[in-house]
Amino acid sequence: MNNTRPGSLHAGNLAPRILTVYPHPDDESFGPAAVLAKYARRGAVIHGVFATRGEHGEPLEGLDLSPEQLAEVRERDLRDATAVIGYAGIELLGYADGALADLPDGQLAALVLAAIQRYVPDVVITFGPGGITRHPDHVAVSQATTHAVHHALRSGAPPMELYYDAVRPQRAEQFGIADLPDGHPNTWIDVSDTVAVKLDALRCHARHIKDAQQRLEQLEREPETVATLYRAWPEVSPGLRLTGLLTGDAG
Ligand SMILES: [Zn+2]
Repeated sequence: MNNTRPGSLHAGNLAPRILTVYPHPDDESFGPAAVLAKYARRGAVIHGVFATRGEHGEPLEGLDLSPEQLAEVRERDLRDATAVIGYAGIELLGYADGALADLPDGQLAALVLAAIQRYVPDVVITFGPGGITRHPDHVAVSQATTHAVHHALRSGAPPMELYYDAVRPQRAEQFGIADLPDGHPNTWIDVSDTVAVKLDALRCHARHIKDAQQRLEQLEREPETVATLYRAWPEVSPGLRLTGLLTGDAG
């Protein structure tokens, strides 16, 4: 036990520390926003690391912005969205959007490891190996974060759980990730109380980004009141279905 640390890995932990690691502004809102909002409202302390400012995202039709202007508005939209969700703070690393896979080996992982050492999370959430859409930035961040978590654990960091964004099998087929953890959620969390927060967060990004607007419209028609994740660490026995973060294997 480390008494200086408020969190610990059990379901009764009312103030878990959560770290999300994503490449782009809006990945958190497409992903686990409703889960994060649920835990934030219970006292969780959430920090986010974003590798880029998303300057090469596809803007809404008719918006004529330079990459630098788009980065500025997206950073603002991200700050608004993460405030809506209930993040305590975010960091933007400022790497070039679309080029994370070209970074020198280990560079991104080292920065994620530093964030883990700073925030000492109970839970880390990032993309899975398919990055949902197979975007190379998503895959690079998944690899770097997975590496950093395991490195930290091997080096004696306090225990932590690692989760990947995951979608239901039907959507996984559409994205071509049906054979990956991203397409096989093992954690299904009731978010009926915070699904509206996810829509509000997406609305911040939908001010400028086409994908976010489309996803928002889709979720307004068919809200997902159960959010899906894949717990990658500790490993979950096949067939077991967890219903929350930090629930052990009790499911
Ligand atoms: Zn993204």
